[in-house]
Amino acid sequence: MAKKQFKAESKRLLEMMINSIYTQREIFLRELVSNASDAIDKIYYRALTDDNLVFNKDDYFIKIAVDKAARTLTISDTGIGMTKDDLENNLGIIANSGSFAFKNETELKDGHNIIGQFGVGFYSAFMVADVVTVISRALGSEEAYKWQSKGADGYTIEACDKDSVGTDIILQIKDNTEDDQYDEYLEEYRLKSIIKKYSDFIRYPIKMDVTSSRAKEDAEGEYEEYTEEQTVNSMVPIWRKNKSELTDEDYENFYMEKRYGFDKPVSHIHIKADGAVVYNAILYIPENTPFDYYTKEYEKGLELYSNGVLIMDKCADLLPDYFSFVKGMVDSEDLSLNISRELLQHDRQLKAIAKNIQSKIKSQLQSLLKDDREKYEKFYASFGRQLKFGVYNDYGMNKEVLQDLLLFTSSKEKKLVSLDEYVSHMPEDQKYIYYAAGESVERLEKLPQTELVADKGYEILYLTDDIDEFAIKVILNYKDKEFKSVSSGDLGIEADSAEEKADTEENQELFTAMKDLLGDKVKEVKASKRLKSHPVCLSTEGELTIEMEKVLNAMPSAGGQAVKADKVLEINVNHDVFQSLKNAHETDKEKLSLYTSLLYNQALLIEGLPVGDPVEFTNDICKVMV
Ligand code: ADP
Ligand code: MG
Repeated sequence: MAKKQFKAESKRLLEMMINSIYTQREIFLRELVSNASDAIDKIYYRALTDDNLVFNKDDYFIKIAVDKAARTLTISDTGIGMTKDDLENNLGIIANSGSFAFKNETELKDGHNIIGQFGVGFYSAFMVADVVTVISRALGSEEAYKWQSKGADGYTIEACDKDSVGTDIILQIKDNTEDDQYDEYLEEYRLKSIIKKYSDFIRYPIKMDVTSSRAKEDAEGEYEEYTEEQTVNSMVPIWRKNKSELTDEDYENFYMEKRYGFDKPVSHIHIKADGAVVYNAILYIPENTPFDYYTKEYEKGLELYSNGVLIMDKCADLLPDYFSFVKGMVDSEDLSLNISRELLQHDRQLKAIAKNIQSKIKSQLQSLLKDDREKYEKFYASFGRQLKFGVYNDYGMNKEVLQDLLLFTSSKEKKLVSLDEYVSHMPEDQKYIYYAAGESVERLEKLPQTELVADKGYEILYLTDDIDEFAIKVILNYKDKEFKSVSSGDLGIEADSAEEKADTEENQELFTAMKDLLGDKVKEVKASKRLKSHPVCLSTEGELTIEMEKVLNAMPSAGGQAVKADKVLEINVNHDVFQSLKNAHETDKEKLSLYTSLLYNQALLIEGLPVGDPVEFTNDICKVMV
């Protein structure tokens, strides 16, 4: 029998494939099972138009059989089979997808599309097998043929016997080598788990003889092994079912089965899109942050299925970074799939699906915020930080999508409020959205700078996450209201700023003297109106605030080049301490220097900044005491 050569380009492709394309060998089984399923589909479609052919469901199945001693794994199907020519044309030429031609000539209307249009599937068998034998008998034919190949060096075809229509693919599993284990592809439990993972939702039963042991009936304490045929796949995917058929529990079970997380999701989204792009998706918003979530190790992505067959574990392109916490899966019949990730990235369908998904997630979060605040706050505690990063990243490109999903603690109600809620609480004379940034709500509540704003009856947003102020700066304004730090130079509370100016002018000489003593530690010393009970505080001029200075300087990348906010030392001229300052200025320059340095250091401490020289600071306090 003459050995035939693969076409030249097929040969090259085959070598490439065996060695590189698939990184995970186990997917050979997915490919062969998909082909078997395609072959049954073909009979199914033929039966739709051919009155002589009846599709009796029970006659169609896929069977996996293992012979450990012979080291063979056989995948059989009762599908349409292949003629001699088919074997030659379909398996002799790589990437000549027979399924593709079939699809074009048949109109498939009911969504039962044929999987396996990924080109080179069959050849993946050579990743685990030395020899691949295909025995096939085509529908309507009395003859059967055997195709056999050891890989790149060609194949043989000869006539053989086969009782029924269909195809057996027999893999001679490779021997283990030092580096590679192949025995696992002869283990029932391993094969079962691969089928579960990739082919659970194939529409036809995938049967397998499974060996188990049971207690012997007659002899107590003794066990016997027995073999029974099991159907390994569950066949109907939950995402193809109607939402009305499914309960919350079904969705939660699927989440657990799929190990999307070990928590209970706060919410799920079931999408059945049949507009411009056709796809089904089940998405989950988890409750807890995965332990590696805020690290580089965390990988975002959704499972991607093509017509019921898993083709990618984590398709990152389906989720924007700011929704990277979302788990779940997408199944589409429309994807023009190729196994290469690069091609997938440019796929128009995939982009359309991603866009669609993004807006569904957003509206789901928005309705949670509106209708189930408790759940939303649970979610927000876990992933709010990611949303804020999302606002800040990419120069604020996505702030419109995200700003309405943000929550901050309110000074008034001591609970979380959205920006929309804040603005709706604003009295008419309030110009800005006020915020205070710092370590904790407890600390911020005591911040002297908040006194005036709070006195006015205005609400303050307490920003306690290091990303908060950066995100706020990117948003710039919300519903035409600008954000204003309570520590910023001009609070926009008018009457007071005029008075402040007068007070500053009146005491200009003193303030200039203090500024000279402090040098470039501060830009200015001035009278403050924001202070009511405290003697002193720091405010800032310009964009950079003290909180931002702290955050930026704490970053490892800051290195030696520390950033510095333009600080202003504000003095409460109505405080008793001010009288002492004035007296010192008139009579005792040394005392003025002592007081100035004390007040400055106090202001630093209030801000949570370290004092420059703690020893000097405590010595100064002692000087005042004696
Ligand atoms: P694809 O599935 O993308 O067409 P494959 O390399 O997986 O590519 O398979 C090549 C072709 O071989 C299929 O299109 C089909 O015509 C034929 N084929 C493979 N396996 C079977 C099978 N079990 N029964 C019938 N035909 C098969
Ligand atoms: Mg295939």
